[in-house]
Amino acid sequence: MKYYAADVVFPVTGPAIKKGVVAMDDDGLVKGVYNPGEIDESLVEQFKGALIPGFINSHCHLELSNLLGIVPRNIGLPSFLSSVMNERGNHNASLEEAMLDADKKMYEKGIQAVGDHVNTVVSAKIKENSLIKYHTFVEVMAMKKEDVITNIDNAKEIEFHFDYKHSSITPHAPYSVSKYLFKALKKAVSEDNIFSIHNQESDEENKLFRYKSGEFLEFFKKMDLVMDDFRAQARNSLQSFLPYIPSKNRLILVHNTYTSMKDLDFVDRMGRSVYICFCPKANLYIEGRIPKIDNFLLGGHEIIIGTDSLASNDTLDILEELKVIHQVYPELDFNETIKWATINGAKALNFEQELGSLEVGKKPGLVLLEGMDTFKLNPKVKVRRIR
Ligand SMILES: [Zn+2]
Repeated sequence: MKYYAADVVFPVTGPAIKKGVVAMDDDGLVKGVYNPGEIDESLVEQFKGALIPGFINSHCHLELSNLLGIVPRNIGLPSFLSSVMNERGNHNASLEEAMLDADKKMYEKGIQAVGDHVNTVVSAKIKENSLIKYHTFVEVMAMKKEDVITNIDNAKEIEFHFDYKHSSITPHAPYSVSKYLFKALKKAVSEDNIFSIHNQESDEENKLFRYKSGEFLEFFKKMDLVMDDFRAQARNSLQSFLPYIPSKNRLILVHNTYTSMKDLDFVDRMGRSVYICFCPKANLYIEGRIPKIDNFLLGGHEIIIGTDSLASNDTLDILEELKVIHQVYPELDFNETIKWATINGAKALNFEQELGSLEVGKKPGLVLLEGMDTFKLNPKVKVRRIR
């Protein structure tokens, strides 16, 4: 048994404990969380800063790890997507190494589990051997009716290469998935299939759905996609696709940069609970703005945090995402945002039995935030993995 103490311990599911102590056995299983004085001090290893459970990175694309620094910043989502599609094949020689490095660095940065989107099987081996737990989302897309069944079959084939308990098939994004595909997917998956959809990452997506106008039409032309079937919906994308998602399946909405209060109202009126995933650094990279986070605080939906990929971020580091959030919204309480970065992500990805909080019986990892001024996250805080 080992005992670890710090200026403050955040068990996350219970109140923070000043000078708290965490007991872990040799396997990293939490055996107890104690108040100061409950454990003989000579047994305890002392740290300066805050102890927290390992982070959950709820949104990533490991297979884009070789695109670090390749796509220009601030070009908007449609151009970003074109650039990723053009560049993806040009850097294959460095892909394996880049994925291994990204996986290793995420672990060092205290990340315990990742929700990772794929279009191929290239990351399967790395995930199998990783210290990180992965839930793999196989993306499926199809605008043409005739591609729907083939593309779902292909996605199932890819899913077969990943841990069957921690993988699912998901629509990629509203602008890449036709209503035919949404309808077919409803029949093709079971109730425990978790959906994770890129949502309203750009205002162009809303323009497409409201008026059938904007930059996505150019993007489709470049992709040789005929959009005759697509009709303007006179409402935002979220309101258009949400009714197609089966109500019992867990749903993660990723980005939400251009999600309005009306959209959130619509979600509530449907009686739908959703996980809202923020990836602020990727939003700044691609679109130069981040979501209006205060709009999401009262809805009762759980907030989670992702890094997105190295195509739109310079690090895969949840602490850095938290710093951006606290810089833009200084009134937010770290006692709340730490849940977004840990237990909420664990719930969204179905890892809550073992990860996301310092609770007896879990193996959540143990991470030190050095330089925390008790409950305040400042830009100088550093992350260090203890267990
Ligand atoms: Zn993404």
